[in-house]
Amino acid sequence: MRNWMVAGNWKMNNTTGESVVLAQSIKESVSHMTGGDIVLAPPFTSLAAVYEMIKGSRVSLAAQNIFYEDKGAYTGEISPAMLKDVGCAYVIIGHSERRKYFHETDEGVNLKIKKCLATGLKPIVCVGETEEERETGVTEFVIGAQVRKAFIGIEKLDNIVIAYEPVWAIGTGKNATPIEAEEVHSFVRNLLAETYGNAVNNVRILYGGSVTPENIEELISMENIDGALVGGASLKSENFTGIIRKIMEIRTC
Ligand code: PEP
Repeated sequence: MRNWMVAGNWKMNNTTGESVVLAQSIKESVSHMTGGDIVLAPPFTSLAAVYEMIKGSRVSLAAQNIFYEDKGAYTGEISPAMLKDVGCAYVIIGHSERRKYFHETDEGVNLKIKKCLATGLKPIVCVGETEEERETGVTEFVIGAQVRKAFIGIEKLDNIVIAYEPVWAIGTGKNATPIEAEEVHSFVRNLLAETYGNAVNNVRILYGGSVTPENIEELISMENIDGALVGGASLKSENFTGIIRKIMEIRTC
């Protein structure tokens, strides 16, 4: 069975001081918990301070974005070496907010995944359909295209995590039903199996979209849902750790 993972995407929230307080509370609450991977993705400005707080604990650090060049005249961008330098193990790539507000493309996502893998960072690759796409029945078409383009030229699935995040469920309180989510998760796994064969059974596919301690139980009970990428509920220690606690009650690994 695949190890579960819960990643908290803090988005553009928390000063450095606030980030450290939240990270400390989460670190202490999960210190006795075993199994699974727990990841925090604070804003860039808090990465170094959060790393100092969590290093040596069972909590890992993620960035919310990366650039695909090593260095140079790219004002405002952050390189893989910079992220490694401040303790990142994971990077969220292709979040729908980046696609929507910053015009991130599938091609850019592909370059970023490749750069992460080449640098020893683990990508958490986000895909998801809009409400209109779901309503017009093109969910699989959209997700299929995003996945195919994201994985062009990628030889192995090692170290890659995927997050299915329906855009209409992010920050709206309207989460996908466990059955709706499972349909997409198994679609993604089957699609990747065409290229990567059985290796796909080791890839974790997280669900993201208004996950709370109240709705995680049913989601995590589905065969192809291996954890959660959590936005809003990751900003309160008791909610984030509540999600983790519920997963631990259900999953043995
Ligand atoms: C997210 O932004 O990745 C997310 C899932 O947000 P929320 O949990 O707030 O829907």
